[in-house]
Amino acid sequence: EVLAGAPYDDVAGDPGDEEAAVKPVVAVVGRPNVGKSSLVNRVIGRREAVVEDVPGVTRDRVAYDASWRGREFTLVDTGGWETSASGLAAMVARQAEYAAMTADVVLFVVDATTGTTDADAAVVRVLRRSHKPVVLAANKVDGGPQDPNAMELWSLGIGEPHPVSALHGRGSGDLLDAVFDALPVEAPRESLEEEPGGPRRVALLGRPNVGKSSLLNRLAGEDRVVVDPVAGTTRDAVDELVELGGITWKFIDTAGIRRRFRNLQGADYYATMRTGTALERAEVAVVLLDVSEPLAEQDIRIVEQVVESGRALVLACNKWDLLDEERRYYLEKEFDRQLSRVSWAPRVNISAATGRRIDRLVPAIQTGLANWDARISTGRLNGWLKELVAATPPPVRGGKQPKILFATQADTRPPQFVLFTTGFLEDNYRRFIERRLREDFGFEGTPIKLRMRIRE
Ligand code: GDP
Repeated sequence: EVLAGAPYDDVAGDPGDEEAAVKPVVAVVGRPNVGKSSLVNRVIGRREAVVEDVPGVTRDRVAYDASWRGREFTLVDTGGWETSASGLAAMVARQAEYAAMTADVVLFVVDATTGTTDADAAVVRVLRRSHKPVVLAANKVDGGPQDPNAMELWSLGIGEPHPVSALHGRGSGDLLDAVFDALPVEAPRESLEEEPGGPRRVALLGRPNVGKSSLLNRLAGEDRVVVDPVAGTTRDAVDELVELGGITWKFIDTAGIRRRFRNLQGADYYATMRTGTALERAEVAVVLLDVSEPLAEQDIRIVEQVVESGRALVLACNKWDLLDEERRYYLEKEFDRQLSRVSWAPRVNISAATGRRIDRLVPAIQTGLANWDARISTGRLNGWLKELVAATPPPVRGGKQPKILFATQADTRPPQFVLFTTGFLEDNYRRFIERRLREDFGFEGTPIKLRMRIRE
């Protein structure tokens, strides 16, 4: 079984995939110069959006993290999307189309001081067709003499105009309340956390005889082991709290390691079962491999189980003391051939028997967990993505070039990214993005997931 080049099922966006809860998307639409970017800055409470609202100006960021009344959402500034459509009304209508396609709520901004224009009318037509909730903002109501002709804005026929001044902040609270009310109902989220703030949970995995109990004894030492009283009494699986490098760790189901299955029939079966149940409760897996023997199918299967579970991964190459030059050569070949899919996993070459490099395990586990927890801000992610896509656009498919409008990191543990696109992205291109994400942001020791959202 070779993992190299295997299809990334989680990336393919199977309908059966459990999907990360993507924060709701609010897209800001409007013709140039109505003050979209100022409004974006007002909403996100920072000056991140480039306030130069003229056609053709390329902004490096298009999407931002925002929240109101405790509800988080992604705010997208469609003014940052380049469109090939020529003519103002066509360009704005095109942006409105993309917004209607990708957003949960469209925030339509008009300039109260100039009244509505053809471009505004074009946007209205698109938004009506989309049946997406629309919140209408009448900007530049600064309290001056030319305050809005409310009747005219009502006559757009898309609901109540909310007067705001992006410049002074006036009315933005009421506007955000309206956006808040239009957001889709929040799905309750399940937490991976067993006991928030408790010790981090490590599963020690590997086929029989790779040295799990030897390593555990090395790490814990019989007398330093504290059996978790709660888990010990209520569960079959007994966890052990072990102090390493000044930090307390919870090793999951160590009873299963200390119990000896290896001479029993069906040891493989038990090992697979144990791997699955231990992974469910763990945050990071240390997979032990026995380097004195060729990699076994079961080794690959365990690594695959970890990747599928979405847990952080450290590879511990054990019995390093038994390695000779020849075996070492073949070992590297086997790694290249069979474990290239997890080339992102830190590898520690240890010997449970001699204690060699055991102290390298904790830093590797910490790296994996830190990256498993990592979050890239939406602004930063989109600045990066914009450059990447400009340099290497997605390949044309069926005569059409899919457009990547924006991306968000929908979740951590492991990091999960969602690309909002106008069309299907080839596997190769998605792998390219994943590779570049790893190159530019790290993510050593954690699987990352990449999905597409094509909304029609
Ligand atoms: P488990 O089934 O994964 O828990 O494996 P064990 O810890 O019981 O180890 C299986 C065998 O490998 C035992 O005979 C150990 O003494 C031996 N062993 C474990 N780690 C090492 C190591 O680093 N070097 C050597 N030479 N032998 C080891």
